[in-house]
Amino acid sequence: MLLEEVPVAVDSFNHDGGVLFFCSHAHEDHLKGLNKKWRKGPLFASAITRQLLLLKWPSLEITALELGRTYQIPLMDGLEIEVYLIDANHVPGSVMFLFSGYFGSVLYTGDFRLHEKHQDIASLAPVRDLVGPFLQVNFGSFSKTGDKGLSRIYLDNTFCDPRFQQPSREDVAAAISKRFRRKWPCIIFVESYRLGKETLLLHLAQKLRSRVLVSEERKKTMRACGFESDQVQIQSCDPLQASEDLLQTEALRGCIWAISRQNLRKGMWQASDSGCAFHGIRATGWAEQARKEESMPSCEDLDENLVAVSDDGVFHYLYSDHCSFLELVQFLQFLPKAPVTFISPVGSSEGTYSFDGADGIQKLMASASVPSIRYSERPTRCFEKTSLPRAKRKAEGPHEEDGYEQKKSAGA
Ligand SMILES: [Zn+2]
Repeated sequence: MLLEEVPVAVDSFNHDGGVLFFCSHAHEDHLKGLNKKWRKGPLFASAITRQLLLLKWPSLEITALELGRTYQIPLMDGLEIEVYLIDANHVPGSVMFLFSGYFGSVLYTGDFRLHEKHQDIASLAPVRDLVGPFLQVNFGSFSKTGDKGLSRIYLDNTFCDPRFQQPSREDVAAAISKRFRRKWPCIIFVESYRLGKETLLLHLAQKLRSRVLVSEERKKTMRACGFESDQVQIQSCDPLQASEDLLQTEALRGCIWAISRQNLRKGMWQASDSGCAFHGIRATGWAEQARKEESMPSCEDLDENLVAVSDDGVFHYLYSDHCSFLELVQFLQFLPKAPVTFISPVGSSEGTYSFDGADGIQKLMASASVPSIRYSERPTRCFEKTSLPRAKRKAEGPHEEDGYEQKKSAGA
């Protein structure tokens, strides 16, 4: 997204001329436009994200920034901005960016999950010997909402709807290990992307006194993230290529086997054919959508063990690297009141993960006393249903082609 206040682009890399680029974390959908020949401008990221990007594109030039330090970075026109990185508690290397300068201060959360450390976000103190003129002014008034205080919050709105009430990742991990201790030993296939769920995989390995089997690429990723445990081992072959003997041996020893989403069920069929003991786990914040796709029990009916089991035997856990709706409200309450811009488009009449964005916008404004929320709508081929009525289009014109802004009415 290209910020409105300053020539800075976060997690979008197709802009030309005089723009500073920042990458909040290394999930694929935040790397659009990057490739091995990319040279559009200075690129900044946390040290872990830099390592992950270099695994993919070794020739990229990326400046690593530490968390908790203030950096001054020159802009093209003689001005400069300051940036301060905050742990986003989303996946390894993920950060929020606090930009300060002539425009005041702008917080870009990127994808994040609320952490208790975020309670102190309004009282962040810059390291004294690194304080520059802009940040000094802005941090001084940051918690007082002065003219140069927090001017905008770019917010991760992935689950900005009251229906999303995912429990903490710690609680879900504990529920999973408790359930499968009773079924041990066996193979536990855990669906995972290339990045994310490292803590869950290691938690299971520790609680079950076992190992995590991963692909060579996944092992490199985990090493780049600082997970150097002996309990993470490279699989001897892809689970879909595994022989009956191998599957039976692994099941008798017991193992946690990381597997891609598209291969989860195929891996389970393979294990089933071999006659070994196995289980499959999907741990995702999108369990609500999975229910629609896979005719599984409603997530509102998750049992006390936080699990729902689909007809094909997959255990679905509501495990999210993003904030629940209530956590979004809490997070905003830790900050000075400032206008919000949603990072992701809202609503869709036909999107894979569609939900009506209107309810989330209304309830977030009411619960967190947000003065205004700016957002764009997800493009859709079906125009019969929109998440908000046209009358709510921003009066002076949207900031994007399909942008909207909802403001509190006077006295609200
Ligand atoms: Zn992400």
